[in-house]
Amino acid sequence: MKKYDVVIIGFGPTGGTLANLLALHGFSILIVEKEKSFYPLPRAVHFDDEIMRVFQTIGITDKFLKHTIINKGTKFVNSKNKEVLDWPRPRSVTENGWYPSYRFHQPDLERKLRGRLKDFKKVKIMQNTKVVNLKEDKSSVKIILENVNNKIVKEISSKYVVGCDGANSTTREQIKAKFQNLGFTQKWAVVDLILKKDKKELPDRTIQYSNPKRPATYCRNVGKRRRWEFAIHDNESEKKVLSNSYIWNFLKPWLKPSDAFMERKTIYTFQSAISKKWKKGRVFLAGDAAHLMPPFMGQGMCAGIRDVSNLSWKIAHCLKNNHSDKLLNTYQSERYSNVKEYIKTTAKMGEFVNAVGTSNITGKVSSTPDGQKSMKSIKPKLGKGLGKAQDKNRGKIFPQFKIRNGKSLDDKFSLKPILILSKEIKENISSKLNLIQSKNNKDLEKFFKNSASKAIIVRPDRFILSSCKSVKDFKSYLNKNLSILV
Ligand SMILES: Cc1cc2nc3c(=O)[nH]c(=O)nc-3n(C[C@H](O)[C@H](O)[C@H](O)COP(=O)(O)OP(=O)(O)OC[C@H]3O[C@@H](n4cnc5c(N)ncnc54)[C@H](O)[C@@H]3O)c2cc1C
Repeated sequence: MKKYDVVIIGFGPTGGTLANLLALHGFSILIVEKEKSFYPLPRAVHFDDEIMRVFQTIGITDKFLKHTIINKGTKFVNSKNKEVLDWPRPRSVTENGWYPSYRFHQPDLERKLRGRLKDFKKVKIMQNTKVVNLKEDKSSVKIILENVNNKIVKEISSKYVVGCDGANSTTREQIKAKFQNLGFTQKWAVVDLILKKDKKELPDRTIQYSNPKRPATYCRNVGKRRRWEFAIHDNESEKKVLSNSYIWNFLKPWLKPSDAFMERKTIYTFQSAISKKWKKGRVFLAGDAAHLMPPFMGQGMCAGIRDVSNLSWKIAHCLKNNHSDKLLNTYQSERYSNVKEYIKTTAKMGEFVNAVGTSNITGKVSSTPDGQKSMKSIKPKLGKGLGKAQDKNRGKIFPQFKIRNGKSLDDKFSLKPILILSKEIKENISSKLNLIQSKNNKDLEKFFKNSASKAIIVRPDRFILSSCKSVKDFKSYLNKNLSILV
C-alpha cells in the first residue's frame, strides 16, 4: 500500500495552497480531486494583504501579480442611489507589505498554484478520483479512493489527511462533524460578463445596492471582467431569473447586450455555517469544508487560506519531530473564533445590503465630520491556543518589515520561526530560532515601543507566539517558549 506524509482531499484554492506550503518542506503529498481539472469559472474575485503574504511564501507573487488589480473599495448606496456607507481600501501598502485589497480571476490563481507544484517531485495529483472512506489507527489514516470513471477502488495510507473538499465535504461526514447553520441563507444570481469595449462610466469599485426590493452587488473585476449579483425572491422562478431576457433587463441601467459577452450565469445559495469539529485524530477540515460565509466581504476563500497557513506548519512540526495532539488541537481553537468574526461581520453586511440591518456593522462603522459613514476592515486575532491569553501581542500578525539589505522578513525567514530582540537585550544569545536584533532598525524599535515589549517570537505563519515584557524576564521567557517551536 502506498504511504504518504499528507493526503489532501480537494484541489480548490484551499487544497492548492496547503499542498504548496507543505511541499516547501519536502514532504510526500498526494492531492485527490474528484473532478478532471479545476473549476474553469470564477467564484472568488477578491483577496487581501494577509493572503498575498501567503502567496509570497509559496513563491507565486511574481507571476500572479500581473493577473491582479488593486481594489479601490466598496460603496453602499440606497434605493435612490445615494451613498449610505463607504468601505475605502487605501492604495497604500499595509504592515503586511502588500496592498489591502486585490481583485483577481480565480482560475488564474488556481493555475499558478498548480504550476508551482510542478517544482516539487514528491507531490502527486490524482484527478477523477474521489475519497469515499477514511479509517484511522494510532499512527496513520487508511484512505479508500474510487476512480470516478472506471470505479476501480484503491487503498492508500497517510500520516495526516486534510479535507479541503468544499461545502459538501466527505471528510466532514467521515469525522462525523456537525455543520452548524449560523443563520444567513439567501439565493443570489451571479452573472459574469466580459466587456467588448471599455465602459468608463461603469464604477471603478464595488457597489452594494442596499435596496430591499432588489439587493444587488456590482464588482469591478480584472481587465474587462465585470460581475453583477442580485438577490432572488422566494416567489421567483430560478429558470425565469436566469433567462437572458430577464438578466439583460436587470442590467439595463448599466449595459446593453451588444456591450458585453455573458461568460456565465448561475444561482448560489449564500450561507453562513461552521463545523463544530475541525479535527479528529489525524484528520482535519479546512476551507469551505469547515466554514461558509456569504461573499459580501470577499473573505470565504481567504478564510480557507488562513486555515491552511495555520495548520501546515503545525503538521510540518509533527512530521519533523513527533506527533503532538496538543499542538494540533490549537488549529481549531485558534482559527474558529477568527473565522466566526468574519462570518458575523459579513452576515451583518448582508443584512445591510438587504436594507434590513442596522447601519452599524459590528461596531466597525464611524461617521466622518461631513456625516458620511465609513467602515474599517476587520483584523481579528487568533483564538486561544499557543501562547498566553493575557499576552496582548500574542495572536496578532507580525508586520513584514524590511530587514538588512532591504530584504523583507518573510523572504529571509520563509516558514521559519524568528526570535526578535529589542536593542535593550544585549546578551549574546545562541538560540535554535532564527535571530533578529532590532538595533539600527527604526521599524522594529517602533514596534517594540508600541507593543510594550522587549522581545517577541514570531511563528512560521507570521503570527506572534508571545512577547517578553521586561529585560530581566528574558531568560525564563526564552526557556518557556522555545520548546513550542523547536
Ligand atoms: C459568488 C461567490 C463569490 C465569492 N467571492 C469570494 C471572494 O471574492 N473572495 C473570497 O475569499 N471568497 C469568495 N467566495 C468564496 C470562495 O469561492 C470559496 O470559499 C472557495 O472557493 C472555497 O475553496 P475550497 O478550496 O475550500 O473549496 P472548493 O473550491 O469548493 O474546492 C473543493 C474541491 O474538493 C473537491 N472534492 C469534493 N469532494 C471530494 C471528494 N470526496 N474526493 C475528492 N475531491 C473532492 C471538489 O471537486 C473541489 O474541487 C465566493 C463564493 C461565491 C459562491
